[in-house]
Amino acid sequence: MFALVEKSLYVPALDLWIDSLRPRERGYVSHGHADHARAHETVVTSVDSARICKLRFRDAEVRFETHAYNEPWQLGEHRLTLFSAGHVLGSSQLLIEGEHGAFVYTGDFKLEPSFSIGPAEVKRCDVVLMECTYGRPQYVFPPRAEIAGAMVAWATRALEDGAVPIFYAYSLGKAQEALAILGGAGLPVTAHGAIATISQAYLEAGVSLPACERYDAERFDGLRVLLWPPSGRSLPKAVRGRAVRTASLTGWSVARETRAWGGGADTGFPLSDHADFPSLLRYLELAQPKRVLLNHGWKDFAQRLRRLGIDAEYLEANAQLALF
Ligand SMILES: [Zn+2]
Repeated sequence: MFALVEKSLYVPALDLWIDSLRPRERGYVSHGHADHARAHETVVTSVDSARICKLRFRDAEVRFETHAYNEPWQLGEHRLTLFSAGHVLGSSQLLIEGEHGAFVYTGDFKLEPSFSIGPAEVKRCDVVLMECTYGRPQYVFPPRAEIAGAMVAWATRALEDGAVPIFYAYSLGKAQEALAILGGAGLPVTAHGAIATISQAYLEAGVSLPACERYDAERFDGLRVLLWPPSGRSLPKAVRGRAVRTASLTGWSVARETRAWGGGADTGFPLSDHADFPSLLRYLELAQPKRVLLNHGWKDFAQRLRRLGIDAEYLEANAQLALF
């Protein structure tokens, strides 16, 4: 049995919560984003996600049970394996194998490699529970190199015009990707403290990232690209009174009608750490599941899949599914 309780997934046979939004006794955390990571008494996660969780949970008393990618362990009658999700540092998918077959929980994932992390791995399975954030056909992202080129050109032009280019990017994942792109192109980059701290965790995990200066209002000279978390969309103190240009980094910016990136930014670049619509379909082609369960996204993606002859269902709250 596998149940969705209070929007959180629970596998009674393993006594394991999956990305539970409430702290539990024992919970698997697929990655360190705030909508997935909670300070459970025991956090089951990948080695690199534990680095991020430790930063996020700060002083909370948490026991970590860490596993490397593709090093299975036995839990009762089941064999569990974490493997790469290609989303942010340490992000993992969870494979549970037992006598009733193989089940994969994808968590947030991205198929293609990016400038700061490798691609997701896809394993064949009987049942997959997949996120479908961009599960509508208008969400097709341009090639990553093209987006990177546009970001570099935009920032370069802003600096030439005497304006401070500010990219709003999530502190975990998106900001390091932006740093890899912009710093990698030789642009001087200054990052908000939260971003600089997580970038340090990337370096400690062996990811090579260009250097960035930690933001200091006193020291900032206005001649550098600024990376800033979207939550702090108010302008940093040091740029007040200066010309600025702002950009959001989000996959939503490919579909102009949503304007989800608008939020005050001058422009948007569709730099995403999720799979776009074609990649979601590609994942299923590679994994060949008999049954597809969906969460975190568009409910009508399930109908689209059914029209393609795929047994798909969007998980509703409190669903009880007999899988194990
Ligand atoms: Zn995420």
